This record gives sequence, C-alpha cells and structure tokens, in this order.
Amino acid sequence: MDRTARGAAAALVGAIVFLVSLFFLLPVPILYVPSLLLMFIGVVIFGVGSAVAKGFDKNLDEVTIQCYFCKGSGRIDGINGKEVCPRCGGSGVGRSDDVAKPPS
Ligand SMILES: [Zn+2]
Repeated sequence: MDRTARGAAAALVGAIVFLVSLFFLLPVPILYVPSLLLMFIGVVIFGVGSAVAKGFDKNLDEVTIQCYFCKGSGRIDGINGKEVCPRCGGSGVGRSDDVAKPPS
C-alpha cells in the first residue's frame, strides 16, 4: 500500500467516522458530547488523509535532493582548483528551496 492509497483510506475512514457520529451518535442525548468529539476526530483524519493522498508532504521524503550548484558532488571548480560548494557546504545535498529537483 503506497502513501497515496493510505491517505485515501484514512480520508475514507475519517468520512465514515464523521457520518456515523453525525447520523447515529448525535441524535442520542447521552452520546451528544462524545459524538461531537468523534466528528472532530473524523474531520481531522479526513483532512490529514486527503492531504497525504494529494501528496502535500512529498518533499518531506525527498531529503536527498541533489545540490544543483555542484550536481551533488559537494565540490566546484574554483579559482584554485576544486573548492567546497558554497551552496551546500560540501554535503552535495540540495536545499528544500532548490529549483532543480529530480523527477518524482
Ligand atoms: Zn553543492
């Protein structure tokens, strides 16, 4: 199960929890407060699940983006030969605001 399917499943579970709370628990006076709590939880699960399904946190997984300045080597051709890349400090890892990203 990839993360898109997990997100969609979570969104579905959240929607079911919300609807069950709304139509079956809310009309019962003694379950009024718990049903409100469950509806809230359902909405949160639905929101997080659909956000994961859309892939909003994709760049959290891509921690190994190559530095575009040195092409991931950590070294550049300077005046006195090879120098440490000023962009990534020699790590070769790109920053989250790098424009050049590998195809995902
Ligand atoms: Zn670099």
